[in-house]
Amino acid sequence: MPVTWHAGDGTTRSRKRSEGRCCPRTVFVHAPIVVVLLAGGDSSRRLSLLQAQLQASPMADEEAAARAAAAHHAKQKAEAGELTIFDKIISKEIPSKIVYEDDDVLAFRDVSPQGPVHIILIPKDRDGLTQLSKAEDRHEKILGHLMVTAAKVARQEKLDKGFRLVVNDGPDGCQSVYHIHLHLIGGRQMKWPPG
Ligand code: AMP
Repeated sequence: MPVTWHAGDGTTRSRKRSEGRCCPRTVFVHAPIVVVLLAGGDSSRRLSLLQAQLQASPMADEEAAARAAAAHHAKQKAEAGELTIFDKIISKEIPSKIVYEDDDVLAFRDVSPQGPVHIILIPKDRDGLTQLSKAEDRHEKILGHLMVTAAKVARQEKLDKGFRLVVNDGPDGCQSVYHIHLHLIGGRQMKWPPG
């Protein structure tokens, strides 16, 4: 069953559950599982339905995306200076829906949104920050700038009731693009614990 929501730009969006790719999207999994557990009559059928739902879950997709990135040595390639898809978004070689830009930071809508608002914030100059765990003292200014920009963009998007900021780091963190980025997700009630 597709997930549908009203996007911040006034349009209605939907996607198949299997299209999700990011850790925070785990939250979509919980409600349908409860439905399966309550609705099924036969226990083995309930289990197979549950397994099917888990296999099709966004979490599984996100893990697959992180595994694919690992298999293609995306981390090592980025560390060696190879361009990522985010470099191509910065250079405008690949189009994106930009919501904020200044000399140092770019913010654009995630192509696979996990809520009514899902924005990616990146430094224009990666400066070795393929992932947060590479952070050094010299990165304090840009990391602070990213956080302050996230708050500005959240206000711009009218996320008055709150939002979530996510940084995925490395394979265990389900990182798939090795150019440090913040996920700003809002417009719906978040769940805890995250996946
Ligand atoms: P992560 O899994 O934390 O590395 O996050 C990477 C994010 O980049 C995912 O949420 C993707 O949906 C998003 N993404 C990948 N390609 C694009 C693109 N061309 N435009 C916008 N977002 C993208």
